[in-house]
Amino acid sequence: MKYSALNLAWHALRNHGGWPPAWRHARPKPSYDVIIIGGGGHGLGAAFYLASQHNINNVAVLEKGWLGGGNTARNTMTIRDNFLYPENVRFHRAAVESWHTLSNDLNFNIMLSKRGMTTVLMGDRDLSDAKRMVNTTSLFGAEHRIITLEELQQRLPLAESPQRLPIVGGIHHPDVVIARHDAVSWGYARAASKLGVDIIENCEVTDILCDAQGVTGVQTSQGKITTRKLGMAVSGHGKRVAAMADVCLPIETVPLQAIVSTPVKPILDNVVVLRGLNTYFVQSDKGELVMGSIAEPYPSYSQRGTPQVPEATIAAILQVFPVFERMQFMRQWAGALDITYDNSPIISKTEIDGFYVDVAGSGGFKTTPLAAMMHADLIANNRPDPLIEAYGLERFSSGRLILERASYGNR
Ligand SMILES: Cc1cc2nc3c(=O)[nH]c(=O)nc-3n(C[C@H](O)[C@H](O)[C@H](O)COP(=O)(O)OP(=O)(O)OC[C@H]3O[C@@H](n4cnc5c(N)ncnc54)[C@H](O)[C@@H]3O)c2cc1C
Repeated sequence: MKYSALNLAWHALRNHGGWPPAWRHARPKPSYDVIIIGGGGHGLGAAFYLASQHNINNVAVLEKGWLGGGNTARNTMTIRDNFLYPENVRFHRAAVESWHTLSNDLNFNIMLSKRGMTTVLMGDRDLSDAKRMVNTTSLFGAEHRIITLEELQQRLPLAESPQRLPIVGGIHHPDVVIARHDAVSWGYARAASKLGVDIIENCEVTDILCDAQGVTGVQTSQGKITTRKLGMAVSGHGKRVAAMADVCLPIETVPLQAIVSTPVKPILDNVVVLRGLNTYFVQSDKGELVMGSIAEPYPSYSQRGTPQVPEATIAAILQVFPVFERMQFMRQWAGALDITYDNSPIISKTEIDGFYVDVAGSGGFKTTPLAAMMHADLIANNRPDPLIEAYGLERFSSGRLILERASYGNR
């Protein structure tokens, strides 16, 4: 069924009783042309693009839990392209653009909201990184500029006077958007299911089966399924799942937390980044302040994190925005984040023929549509698009790393 204003009005007259399920709850078939492991935005997106752009419809997405139960619905929604290295800027710039047509492509409102981002710079180190970043991103057409203390104060009137703090200026980046994260999973699932993709929840992949020619299938909690092409999009579990095929990924998995206040009236239109304090926050459409910080300093698959991180995050925000001192803390959660040793994503073939991976976009919500599209293209054509050539696994043996440092502070 196509979602439209007319359909909405028609169902409203019938008390919204007759909406069909958004996607089919499929049972696994014995064999598929392609299997994707992971029912987050990246995995569901790859299945959607395989069906819509490559006419490969005999596809299954296997999800061990429920759709969007991983990082897709745990993140802080920020979609940005402020990176330091050309490979990353080019890719993330295209990724930000890919969001603008997504609601139309999926016929599903992902609630894209253009916010812009204001970064508060503290100290000369912040300022010199910022200049380098602004220069690099402007080469790729980003509207991204250094702003004075006066403009910073105008953009963030609720902030403490910069005279009291070592604030040296700011960056304004008008292209930054946020989107309703779980709607991204639901939209992709609905659109992919309509094109014939089987979406199978509660189906954990427990082993990857291979022969001398490459992948032959997967063993799952719902039985064995055969395929010659397998895509993996399991952020936070990449190393463990790839190890099932004896592929060793250069990844460390760490918990990353988000913190949310009780909702208040609209007070903040920008995403705010306190760069030197490794903290950022944004007001969601529901009115909550959604706050984030750097990852925990230890590897773990737990989805909890320590109390020190929320405490430090709130302390950092109150230093610059003491006006929020009476806001109430509502809840906190964490996700397991895969991070490569160079802090850049992997979208790549592996040494096992037919086994492809899209992992460790450590702030990878922002790349969802483009990474999924590129992953689908890689699976369909068995060669990387020029946009993702730099993200191949071979960089870890050749030494052509993209040692990105701009992704800390704001995932
Ligand atoms: C607190 C937090 C804040 C973040 N903030 C941002 C942000 O502001 N901006 C940004 O760009 N990114 C952010 N990120 C990162 C972002 O959330 C992820 O990079 C992105 O959502 C990954 O999407 P995905 O589809 O690859 O993974 P997921 O959504 O995690 O989906 C992977 C799925 O694979 C499933 N799975 C795992 N193992 C198996 C198995 N063996 N068999 C079957 N299924 C399996 C999991 O259950 C999961 O549902 C944040 C992350 C966290 C934790």
